[in-house]
Order: sequence, then C-alpha cells, then structure tokens
Amino acid sequence: MAKLTLNDLDLKNKTVLLRADFNVPQDADLNITDDTRIRGTLPTLKYILDNGAKKLVIISHLGRPDGKAVAKYSLKPVGERLGKLLGEKVLFFNECIGEDIKKSIENSSERVVLLENLRFHAEEEANDAGFAKQLASLGDLFVNDAFGTAHRAHASTEGITHFLKSAAGFLLEKEIKYLGAAVEDPEKPFIVILGGSKVSDKIKVINNLLPKCDAIIIGGGMAYTFLKAQGKEIGNSKLEKDRLDLAKSILENARKLGKEILLPIDNVAVKEIKEDAKVEIVGENIPDGLIAVDIGPETVKLFTAKLKSAKTIVWNGPVGIFEMPAFSNGTRSIAEFIAGLKCVSIIGGGDTAAAIAKFKLEDKMTHISTGGGASLEFLEGKILPGVAALSEK
Ligand code: ADP
Ligand code: MG
Repeated sequence: MAKLTLNDLDLKNKTVLLRADFNVPQDADLNITDDTRIRGTLPTLKYILDNGAKKLVIISHLGRPDGKAVAKYSLKPVGERLGKLLGEKVLFFNECIGEDIKKSIENSSERVVLLENLRFHAEEEANDAGFAKQLASLGDLFVNDAFGTAHRAHASTEGITHFLKSAAGFLLEKEIKYLGAAVEDPEKPFIVILGGSKVSDKIKVINNLLPKCDAIIIGGGMAYTFLKAQGKEIGNSKLEKDRLDLAKSILENARKLGKEILLPIDNVAVKEIKEDAKVEIVGENIPDGLIAVDIGPETVKLFTAKLKSAKTIVWNGPVGIFEMPAFSNGTRSIAEFIAGLKCVSIIGGGDTAAAIAKFKLEDKMTHISTGGGASLEFLEGKILPGVAALSEK
C-alpha cells in the first residue's frame, strides 16, 4: 500500500487526531450492547499513546442525527466504556469544534479526549471545507481508523486530509491489505461466494470480480433470479423480474470468459417463511407455492467440493435465511468448511459477518471486514475517498 500508515509517523509530542468508528449499537437506555468496534480500535489507540504522542483526540459519528444535536446519539457513553477498556480516563467534550475546545484540550491533564458526535453538524456529511479545517486545527497529525465510513467523502474522512498529514490506523490498514490483495492480486484459485437477498445489490461486485476470479458460487435469495434465467422453476422464491435479462447476460459473460458460475442444485423450501415452518428438500426446480430459504445438502457438497482447492475466498452474502435456525444449515456448513481450509478467507458484508459471529468462527477466518457498505464498494472496484485521500508514503 502506497499510503502512509501509523508506523510511518513520528508521534513524539504530537497531538494526534484520530477518526474512529464508534458507531456502536445501544439499547433503549443507551447501554452499549456490543463494544466490538471500540475494542477493535484499541491497538491503534495504544500504539499512539505508547509512542510518545502528547494528546490523542478522537472523533467519530454515532447513528444518524442528521446535522442536529440529538441526545440519544451522544458519544458520552462511548467515552465511559473506552476509559474502562483503555484503563485511563477519557475526557469527553460535548462539542467537536471551536476555540474553547482547542484551549481545553491543551490545558487538560488527560491524554485521551473524545469529542461529541461529528454528525451533530450538517457540515460533516456535506464535507464542508471550513468545518474540516476547524477539526484539523485540533491536531498535528491525522489518523483514520474508520473503515466503515471510508466510502464516504465527509469532512472527517476526506476534507480533513487537505489540512493535515494523514495516515491509516491499524484497522484501516488491515482492511486495505486484505481486501486490496483479494481484488488486485489474489492467490489462485480465487473463488467468490455471493449470497444475500438481492442480485441488484451485488451486480457491480460480480462485474468487477468475474474477470479476476476462477469461479463464482451463488446462493441465497439472489440465486433464484439466476435459476429462473436458466429456465428453471423457482416456485415463490425470491425473484427480481427486472434483473432477469441481467442475470442472463452475466451467465453468458461468464461462459465467454470461461468462468464457472455455480448455482444451487437442491434447496430447503417452505410454504411460508416462519421459524417453525415445515421444511422440504427440493431439487433445482422448486414446485409452485414453495419458497427456497436455504441451499440443500447436495448443494453444500457441490459448493464445498469447489471451495476445497481455493487459495483465496471472498464471501459476501449468506446462502440462506440464516437468522432462522431452521434455515441456517447451508450458511453454517459453508462457514465451517471454510474455517477448516488453509487459504485466505475474507468475509465482507454486515450480515455475513453476523453469521460468522453467530457460528463462533470469527477466529478461523483470515479477515472479517468491519465495513458493510465500504467493503462492498471495495469489492466493486471503487476507490474509497477516505482511503484515496490519505497521504502517500
Ligand atoms: P451482507 O450484509 O452480508 O452483504 P445481504 O445484506 O446482501 O448480506 O443479505 C443478507 C440477507 O439475505 C439476510 O438477511 C438473509 O436472510 C437474506 N437471504 C439469504 N438467503 C435468502 C433467501 N433464500 N431468500 C430470501 N432472503 C435470503
Ligand atoms: Mg446486509
């Protein structure tokens, strides 16, 4: 990677401004229900503090307050949790810009400061240059560790880099390393698994990765539009009628390129999508009145036989409605099989990552991307503005 990273910076006596992704889930009483995102940033924070930085000023967004100060989206509870995790007091300010903040930071005895939600100001998402400049004035160096917002050109991801030397934090660096290698120079055989509910969400990923991969395995809701395009009966399974021609052209394009596209050859089907529905295993033609909710056992065999030789696997989108235990076997079987392989395995997509977490296989994957939308755009071959804007080495 030609971008500056944390290791390239001289942090001695510097005030480091860090863009984190502290967009954590909370319950109705604003208790943080999952602090994975905060814990994920700790190596970056500790490195900065252990390498001589004078101050660490952290900025982040939380939720969608749409440019107004909304109490329930305050980062204050995050500051409290962060302090516990770091073992050091975190000073919280209920603003993120202004002369007062700057002076207070300089005069504070705490080394770590967390500022209030950036999105309380509409200027953040508008990438307002004046706002970016005010943020930049709070530090000597900028470090971005928020991969989840790197696909958006906001003041704290893009604008700010025009005013400060800017580097990737460890989390962002890892994302770029693994996703970048998979997209640019994957070790072959390179096999892509796509699933999830809609073809339309994944078209650009298919177009970008088809020429680069050896095979694409398609499961989940999107598979049935492809099966229909091949003339199969799909019963009441998920169908995007307006994408049928597109599915046909993708299949045709794959044939021309000599790339294999594997589709389900059997399915778990139900009359109604509900937890206790009676399930039936049907072939690649799904009878009228039935909805395919998961891939069947023969398909698991077909897919895993293909995956066996892979050196690189990118997986985006569950192959069934894994949220319901009765329909989670396909996704679980694929996940368990990949977990046992010696290959680079990259998981992109929020729901796929949630499935891997549910099956407790997180440690068995090479990389689980933390940014749903950002990882999708990366796999689509797009340049992420927050990454592009970082200083060159
Ligand atoms: P990711 O977030 O990993 O990119 P998506 O958002 O594209 O994944 O898709 C995830 C959703 O796809 C899940 O909520 C899952 O229930 C749904 N899904 C998977 N298989 C099917 C299916 N056969 N029919 C309908 N929806 C499905
Ligand atoms: Mg999703």
